[in-house]
Parts: sequence; structure tokens; C-alpha cells
Amino acid sequence: MQLGPLKVSVISGGTLRLDGGNMFGPVPRVLWERKATPDDRHRIAMDTNCLLVETGPHRVLIDTGYGSKADARQRDFQGLEAGNPIVATLSQLGLQPVDITHVILTHLHFDHAGGCTARGPAGQLDVVFPNAKHIVQKVEWEDAVGRSPELAGSYFPDDFEPIAQAGLLQLVDGSADILPGIRLRKVGGHTRGLQIVELGASASSPPLGYVLSDLVPTTWHLKTFWHVSYDQYPVELRRTKPVVLNEVVRHGAQAFFCHDTVTRWAYLRRDGKQEFEIDPSRR
Ligand SMILES: [Zn+2]
Ligand SMILES: [Zn+2]
Repeated sequence: MQLGPLKVSVISGGTLRLDGGNMFGPVPRVLWERKATPDDRHRIAMDTNCLLVETGPHRVLIDTGYGSKADARQRDFQGLEAGNPIVATLSQLGLQPVDITHVILTHLHFDHAGGCTARGPAGQLDVVFPNAKHIVQKVEWEDAVGRSPELAGSYFPDDFEPIAQAGLLQLVDGSADILPGIRLRKVGGHTRGLQIVELGASASSPPLGYVLSDLVPTTWHLKTFWHVSYDQYPVELRRTKPVVLNEVVRHGAQAFFCHDTVTRWAYLRRDGKQEFEIDPSRR
């Protein structure tokens, strides 16, 4: 699809299965299981929807999926695909990892940043996109490399430390314009440094697309209180989500959902109460 000067493709960084309870945090199972049917291990099917944004000579990847480094136990438990799925989906588009010029990481959880690095034949960790600047919020980086006990299990240093060692890390602090029509915006909530991406805005017009990342991971999470148990600052997320969704509606922009297996993007409208829903009149 075309968003202003940007050619945008939604591509998978790999499907997976995550615990249904974790995906719906405070929501009782009797409510969420009407929408998402769990399997016999209480997991629901998810995707890792990344974006490829092409503009001029630049090829920008927004998030990278979970990559190839998981061990057999994690692969089985989360139903991960073999290989590095983001590399496979790029190759279906005729692209190699060396063609990517920018990698925007919305945050550094494994299902977004894991595809950035891979184990080489001698067991060493290599960066997957050697020609790309990897752009991360400063506080996200600090939390991810900080190894603080209260964040244990949230971040895997093998996913991102090689980026800095390769000299490919670019930290930003707050809002930042990366290329014309590609703006980063720190929203926090899910993690302290979660950033969303606004696509297609110009000096005279608002964004045409919002990459919401784990602020709103699926269309089930459009409601304020439907959010995941992994959120580090839930109250902040519940405060920010309606503000951003209101902007999406006001600007008539597309919303992109990172973990939805069916609706990878949609236009939205107010639902007549205090919340938001897909606008079925615009597809
Ligand atoms: Zn996350
Ligand atoms: Zn996620």
C-alpha cells in the first residue's frame, strides 16, 4: 500500500502461540475466550507483524519478529517457526538483509527485536542487518541492558547487545523524524521506552498510518482495559491508548496491529460508548 511517499508492506516476523491469560491481563477468561479460542495448552495464536517501508533509496524495517535463537523448549512452548522468519519473508519480496538501511525497534522484547541477531556457524552472535542503523529509544535501551532484577525475563541481551558492538545503534530520546514521513513517538506504558511510528505525515498534513506496536497489539486490545499482563506501566498505557486512538480516528489514519493474525491494519471509529472499534465501512 502507498501512504503518501511511502510504500508500506506488512510482513510476518513469524507466528507464535502465547498464553491467553498473559495476552489479556486483567480481562477474565470468560470474556476473552469468546474472541480468542485457546488451545489445549491455554495458548492463543499470534503473529509478529512487521512493516517494510520503502522510500527513495531507503528500506526501513519496523520490528523484526523473534528470530532464530530460541532453544528447543521455548520453540515448542511458543510454537515458533524454524529459521529466522523475517529473513524468509523479506526474501519472498526479493530482498536480502543487506538491503535494509534502517531498523526501527518499537521496543526490545524478544518478539520484536529477536530477529536482529543470529548465531553464526561457530556459535558467535552476528547482526542480521549489517547495513542498517538500528533505532531505539534511549530509556528502552537503558532498561534492556540494565539487567535490573525487576525486569528479569523481559529482555534477552543476545537480541540487541551485538547491535551496539557492531556500531549500528542509534538512540533517540522522545519524538524523532527518521526520514520524511517517518516519525517516532515515545509513548511508554507497555515498556518505559515503547515507541510508536507515525507514517506519511507532511508539514501540511497529519499521519496516514500509526504503527501501534504493543500499545494495541491486536484489534481485541482496542478497549482501554484490554491489555497484556506484560505491560510494565499499565495505568500509563490505559491513559495513553485512548489519546492515540482518538488521533487515529480524527486523522482518518490506518492503525497497524503487531500481533493480530487476521486484521493486520484497519481504519477505526468511535464505538458509541467511550471506546474504539474497527470501521467496517473503510477497508
Ligand atoms: Zn512487548
Ligand atoms: Zn509484542
